[in-house]
Amino acid sequence: MVRTTEQSAQDAVDDDVARGRGQFVVRSPVDDRVVARLRETGAAEVQRAAADLRAAQAEWEALGPGFRARHLLRLRDWVLDNEAHLLDTIQLESGKVRQDAAFEITASVDVINYYARRAERYLQPGHPRPHGALIASKALTVSHRAHPLVGVVSPWNFPLFIPLGDAAPALLAGAAVILKPSELTPLTAVELGRGWQEVGGPDVFRVLTGTGATGAAVVDQVDYVQFTGSTRTGRAIAVRAAERLIPCSLELGGKDPMIVLDDADLEHAVGGALWGGLFGSGQTCTAVERIYVQDGIYDRFVARLVERAAGLRHGTDAVAGGSEVGAMASDAQVAIVSSHVEDAVARGARVLTGGRPGLAGADAPSSGSWFPPTVLVDVDHSMLVMREETFGPTLPVMRVADEDEAVALANDSSYGLSASVFTGDRRRGERIARRLEVGAVNINDVFTNVISPPVPMSGWRSSGLGARFGGAQGLLRYCRTQAVTASRVATPADELLWYPYRPGKSRLAARVVRLAVGRGRRRLTSSRSQR
Ligand code: NAD
Repeated sequence: MVRTTEQSAQDAVDDDVARGRGQFVVRSPVDDRVVARLRETGAAEVQRAAADLRAAQAEWEALGPGFRARHLLRLRDWVLDNEAHLLDTIQLESGKVRQDAAFEITASVDVINYYARRAERYLQPGHPRPHGALIASKALTVSHRAHPLVGVVSPWNFPLFIPLGDAAPALLAGAAVILKPSELTPLTAVELGRGWQEVGGPDVFRVLTGTGATGAAVVDQVDYVQFTGSTRTGRAIAVRAAERLIPCSLELGGKDPMIVLDDADLEHAVGGALWGGLFGSGQTCTAVERIYVQDGIYDRFVARLVERAAGLRHGTDAVAGGSEVGAMASDAQVAIVSSHVEDAVARGARVLTGGRPGLAGADAPSSGSWFPPTVLVDVDHSMLVMREETFGPTLPVMRVADEDEAVALANDSSYGLSASVFTGDRRRGERIARRLEVGAVNINDVFTNVISPPVPMSGWRSSGLGARFGGAQGLLRYCRTQAVTASRVATPADELLWYPYRPGKSRLAARVVRLAVGRGRRRLTSSRSQR
């Protein structure tokens, strides 16, 4: 619920007291309870941690990918052994339902499995063939050397999957990692740090809690930033990374469109819209945020969507399947969703179910941050709900005449994270995918790319820079490449290109090149007259 004035005043007092003690407060969005007070890690402490981690990193990298994989697989086993506790912690701090939290365990374990099994192969040095006559005698090697210290700065919507999914490949690559989790959901990450110690992991992974100031201090210390969060913060980090001349990968916000064509399977498309739009209460970067439905199927689609959305169980649960849609992560998030719905209604949209903060079906206001599944129609692109990231359980549906109109509207956005297309014709779906200005398209599905390490998850436009996962690239992006050249023959004292310069040497060099690449008699011989 949006807080009363007295509650907000009490929150502000709690926050001030905590700040005075160098702490910050963690609340459960389910009922507003204060569940922890954690340390705000200061810049000096971040600097000390960075020095410790750097000192341990060289040995971690030297021990090789097989050794590192064994540690990560032990961490994976720890995650599985502590599953119930981790699920409780994710639910406590994020307000997710049990099944949405369980998705994070499965997805994280999959990422570790994928990269631990392949790290050795991906990190093998390459030996390209020499190209060009002048270096024909050289042996060439391209090796991958980890960025010594990687900073993973993560958001609150996936307290386990994003921190672990980004840190695990970095550790496997040979980097040391500082993880700065969101101040809204730091408890799961703290457990992860504890898990690393419990499985005997060396001092190459630390979790530093704090607010944005701690995140900024991390960016100031590391050699590579892996950031996931809002476009606004991503821009600030990109500026700082440019000043420090360090690489960064930015996974940012989205406004993902879903296109439903006349030939789509109706029930499947409705199911995709519901799960894609409401998973995690719609607080997923790749959530279905706007739906374009072709004329011929529109009325049936909307009727069924409303019926099923209104029937979803909204609330908290302790057992998977107890509820379908959980709490929002914070009152601030509820306020954004409310403002988007109010703006849409003021501009002529109609709410067909949901639409007001609070638990679905509850008569009286309840504590906690709740907003029910909400279907909106008669929407257009003048409305915030179709233009800005809502990050909530809203399903705004717009009628379109045909494929071309759907594509044009889908592309009418400053974001470009991902999209989905529902059609009975896969080739048609693939054709449409190539016209969409987004980093990923799921045909007759939603989110699949997010849990597919073999393909990259990259945001186009304001949705990001770089990509996570993507097969070998998901590991190699945490590395610098190093080229090594060596002579394959006994080293002559006088290399062809070195001093002293003499006419005879110059002609010989030119002859070698022309013999290798010159076509036709004139080009093969003309060097004689020019040098
Ligand atoms: P946010 O940008 O507010 O915060 C993200 C993290 O950055 C937090 O840990 C925060 O403490 C830290 N931070 C804040 N200011 C900082 C600074 N100046 N320097 C360094 N760190 C700083 O984002 P959020 O509200 O936590 O997350 C929600 C956003 O994340 C949404 O926009 C969502 O779309 C996006 N997201 C994107 C992806 C993706 O893969 N593209 C995945 C999940 C979430």
